[in-house]
Amino acid sequence: MFRTRGLLKRTSLTTNTIQTSTNTTTTTNSNSITIPSSTNTNSTTRGRKASKVPHVCIIGSGPAGFYTAQQILKSHASARVDMYERLPVPFGLVRYGVAPDHPEVKNCINTFTQTASNPRFSFLGNVSVGVDGGSVIPLTQLRSAYHAVVMSYGASRDRTLNIPGECLPNVVSARRLVGWYNGLPEDTDLDVDLGVESVVVVGQGNVAVDVARILLTPLDALRKTDIPEAVLNRLSESRVRRVTLVGRRGPQHVAFTIKELREMIKLPGCQPHLNPQHYTHLRDIIPDLPRPRKRLLELLAKTGLDPANPNNLTTAQRTWSLSFLRSPIQVLANEHQAVTGIKLAINRLEGEPGLERAVTNTETEVMECGLVLRSIGYQGVSIHPSIPFNDNTATIQHIDSRVMGLEGMYVSGWIGTGPVGVILSTMTSGFSTGKSVVADMDSGRLDISEDKPGQDYIRDLLAQKGIRAVSFNEWSTLNRHEETEGARLGKPREKVTSISAMLKLMNH
Ligand code: FAD
Ligand code: NAP
Repeated sequence: MFRTRGLLKRTSLTTNTIQTSTNTTTTTNSNSITIPSSTNTNSTTRGRKASKVPHVCIIGSGPAGFYTAQQILKSHASARVDMYERLPVPFGLVRYGVAPDHPEVKNCINTFTQTASNPRFSFLGNVSVGVDGGSVIPLTQLRSAYHAVVMSYGASRDRTLNIPGECLPNVVSARRLVGWYNGLPEDTDLDVDLGVESVVVVGQGNVAVDVARILLTPLDALRKTDIPEAVLNRLSESRVRRVTLVGRRGPQHVAFTIKELREMIKLPGCQPHLNPQHYTHLRDIIPDLPRPRKRLLELLAKTGLDPANPNNLTTAQRTWSLSFLRSPIQVLANEHQAVTGIKLAINRLEGEPGLERAVTNTETEVMECGLVLRSIGYQGVSIHPSIPFNDNTATIQHIDSRVMGLEGMYVSGWIGTGPVGVILSTMTSGFSTGKSVVADMDSGRLDISEDKPGQDYIRDLLAQKGIRAVSFNEWSTLNRHEETEGARLGKPREKVTSISAMLKLMNH
């Protein structure tokens, strides 16, 4: 059953013009929308001009979206915030990226849930925003229906190496592996063969460490996490024993952080297998580094130079290692297309200390492995041709979160900053965007004097397209179901991994 909020009935709308009328609903020609002003009579005294209720829409329900919403709701007394999310469930990478063995990181969900309980907030899940067509809500229509549109839709792709063999069956992006073990619907059927002993992870960031750790952690420990049962079954058949993280630069350039390194060092039944030669000179550069970096590299050097590590392998069932100054140039396979190894160019470093880049030599080597995981960073995409998008950085172009050349449009989180930064830095970005939106309302830079229909208009559009948006209450129903199922299995939750099953459980 569709519930239409039915303020406006129309069939085709092609432009972004909205007019205010004191009449009741009027049908418009295809170039404008007429809105009954009586539906939005609450005015705020904050704006320079006498304003109606400001309607803000946020695209994406990850940390950036929720922190932006929190800031706007806190600093503006009457603004309404509607959050559109392509999945039926909220929280972006907090649910589908953060490692399942890091449940404490997900505590930010409590804050997000509190934001969602604000009566001026609505969650509209199961709604994809982009270019008109099929089940997608056009960005242009959101711009018409809202005073401000915040794009916080993250970085949903990953960077590629563009080398021969990259499309072989067991060359998998870390992004998809992460999605798979976190129960992301589109990655549930990921084709990854874990019946191999050696894995090469290309990249030395925290995502690379996350995937290495999950592959090397004893199954008993993983059973206590929210990794879906189907994935645990597959992991129980894993034969992975060795994971090597390959970096194109030196040990001083690793992108992972100290907590993640500590976890790797302490992994039960697993030992670092590090080449001491890589770490002998590291101590020379440590004194001049900022403190967090200093502590990280001290631990790395200590581990690498510990004589027990490279030699005492007999006790460990599993090992991990780091390889430096290596750039992949080809993934190798046998006649059955099974990955057999990766060919690496040996690099040297050029440039100022701290800013060195890897330059490939002619020398190469082959590292044997049966699975290659590409973990060289995520990548943002443009969801509409009207967005000024920088293809080099894969981010939306903006100044202080205001999208360049598009009034009333803002960015927040990874789609504006690029795919780097922990939840804390995304929070800073979200708060800063929220402040910009409210400041613009207050200063009159953002015209909020006209009525805008907000979700009432979009809900009509959704009804026309046969899309039923998921509310936050409906998500809460699914959440309770997952937690109940999880409790039965002795884990925090058992995630529902298919969208149709989610919708069914939410009584759609
Ligand atoms: P996202 O979290 O990606 O949210 C974007 C949302 O937009 C998603 O829900 C997506 O479905 C939605 N969306 C996308 N396209 C559309 C569309 N067209 N229409 C509607 N909705 C759309 N940080 C930590 O502090 N600790 C950690 O342990 C940690 N682990 C991480 C593990 C991984 C694998 C990754 C990749 C990152 C991790 N981070 C961690 C970083 C953290 O996840 C990010 O800082 C943060 O999630 C970025 O937030 P965001 O809102 O910009 O993007
Ligand atoms: P990242 O931190 O940017 O690391 C990317 C890695 O890939 C770097 O080692 C980089 O090396 C390498 N790389 C990039 N392009 C390459 C290429 N063409 N060839 C070879 N190597 C290449 O990205 P990430 O690991 O995807 O993490 C994204 C963000 O999420 C980070 O800010 C991270 O801290 C955060 N995160 C946090 C946690 C946590 O807190 N536990 C967990 C996961 C993710 P160069 O340095 O040489 O470019």
